[in-house]
Parts: sequence; C-alpha cells; structure tokens
Amino acid sequence: MTAELIDGKKAAERLRARVAELAALFAEDAGRKPGLAVVLVGEDAASSVYVRSKGKATVAAGMESFEHRLPADTAQADLIALVDRLNADPAVDGILVQLPLPGGLDAQAVLTRIDPDKDVDGFHPVNAGRLATGLNGFVPCTPYGCLMLLKAQLGELSGLNAVVIGRSNIVGKPMAALLTAADCTVTIAHSRTRNLPHHLAHADIVVAAVGRAGFVRGEWLKPGAVVIDVGINRTPAGLVGDVEFESAASVAGAITPVPGGVGPMTIACLLRNTLVAAHRREGIALDP
Ligand code: NDP
Repeated sequence: MTAELIDGKKAAERLRARVAELAALFAEDAGRKPGLAVVLVGEDAASSVYVRSKGKATVAAGMESFEHRLPADTAQADLIALVDRLNADPAVDGILVQLPLPGGLDAQAVLTRIDPDKDVDGFHPVNAGRLATGLNGFVPCTPYGCLMLLKAQLGELSGLNAVVIGRSNIVGKPMAALLTAADCTVTIAHSRTRNLPHHLAHADIVVAAVGRAGFVRGEWLKPGAVVIDVGINRTPAGLVGDVEFESAASVAGAITPVPGGVGPMTIACLLRNTLVAAHRREGIALDP
C-alpha cells in the first residue's frame, strides 16, 4: 500500500470537539442548549443503532437530544402531526427523520413537511435548491463530511478534476454540487455511464457512492488520486466500501478506509448543522 490513509475518525473527533466548544458558548448566549429531534418509525435494526449513536453524540456535544420512537404501523397523518409539533417547538433547532420509513409511509411528503430552517439533514427540496444556487442552507451531512476530508487532505480544490460515482439525492448530487462550488471540474457517473475507467483515468478526486462492494478497481484510478469511499456494504467478510481497497491503495495518493473514513464524519456534520441551525434561529453569529 502506498496511499496515505485518511483518518475520518480523527477528523470527526476534532469537529465534534469544536462543535461542543461552540455549543457551550451558544448555551451561555441563548440560555438554552441547541436541540436536535430524531424521529424513528419502526424497529429497523440498523436505523435503531444509527438513532442511538446520533442521540449519544448529540448529548456528548452539549446539545439537547429529543428522541421520538413511533411504532411501525404509525399513520402518515400522525407522523406529519409530529413533524408539525417539532417545527413549532422553540427548543428544537434540528429535525431528522430516520430513513428508510416503513412501507406505507410517504418519505418525501414527510421530508418536505420539515421546516427547511430545521432541516439539518439537508434533504428538503428548498435546501437542495439553496445548495444548487449558492445560497446558505443545510447541506446533506455525508457529502459535507466528504468535502471536509478532501479540503483537509488537499487544501485548495480549485481546478481539480473530480468524478462522483452515484447520483442519489442524499450523496451523489449534493457532492457534485459542493465540488462544483469548490471550483472542481466535476463529472457525475451513474449506472448508465459508458466507460467509467476512461473518466476515472483523469480524476484527481474520486468519490464513490454506489452501494456495490469493491466496485471501483485500483487499475482504473489516476496515480495519486484522492479517493473517498462512501459505500457501506455488509458482506460475509464484514463491512466493505465501494472501492476495492487493496488495489486502490496501491495507486491512490490517499484513501478513506471503510469503516473509519466517511462514516464518522456524517454524524459530526449533523451536529455541526444543528449548531448552525441554533445560531441562525437565535440570530447569534457563529465563528466558522
Ligand atoms: P443509491 O442506491 O441511492 O445510489 C447509488 C448510485 O450508484 C445511483 O446513482 C446509481 O446509478 C449508481 N450506480 C449503481 N450501479 C452503478 C454502476 N454499475 N456504475 C456506476 N454507477 C452505478 O445509494 P446512496 O447514494 O444512498 O448510497 C451509496 C452508498 O453509500 C451505499 O453503500 C450507502 O450505504 C452508502 N452511504 C454511506 C453513508 C455514510 O455515512 N458513510 C451515508 C449514505 C450512504 P443510477 O442513478 O443510474 O441508478
């Protein structure tokens, strides 16, 4: 292996420590802690683990965590009513509805019901529009975390060629928008892309968000490329990313491991978004 390992755990610890410092200052100024409400519907095991770790991280950062666990057979109207209550609750700065929702519930209708100024997941179309047009909003946590890792690794991103593999609303598209805003030349690849290796051969930055174990191979990469592996795939061999780690690490300049790369940054960015939401709602300036 020749690539440098990008330590997402360490980067996330630093960000969480900074968020905790700023949350304490906010509490002094505002007379209350920033608050994050997390809504979990049903018993999905992975979602339950995510919600628990989000709650723990929120409290550890000196913020208020409001957990709402609803049964799987919750009616759409009741879920919407909860979102309305959270929208109106002055102690709640951020609202996150854990996806996927159980069958029968309309996730899009729920997400668009969240007040865009409390939408710390950044999934509301208003925030997608703000990101696309360069306005201040909330950026989805996973791509935001990827951007932070890239900036920490490379410094200036201006002029670099970036290939984002995947075009989902929660990772690929916002990632491409962030890299475009950072003055990269961005290619978005997806399942209909022809000759992906051709595009990757020129990429200084590769972000893989495909959902297929070991999909990106080392021989496709430009030597020295910085590779961000968003994928989380459960295999008999354990958790693996979308990049074939061994072959990629012998060509890339730097690469994120799975686990321990992008994953930890996602929750840290959620806390950061909640902190930002709290400051905006109270009209208190926030040092970057
Ligand atoms: P989606 O399934 O929504 O999107 C996958 C994307 O990959 C689609 O755009 C699809 O193209 C594209 N794709 C599929 N097959 C190919 C192919 N053969 N060649 C090129 N592109 C292809 O997934 P998500 O964006 O939600 O997640 C991607 C991965 O990231 C998953 O492994 C997920 O678990 C992980 N993830 C990790 C997070 C973290 O915190 N680390 C957070 C969120 C996700 P098309 O649009 O044409 O179908």
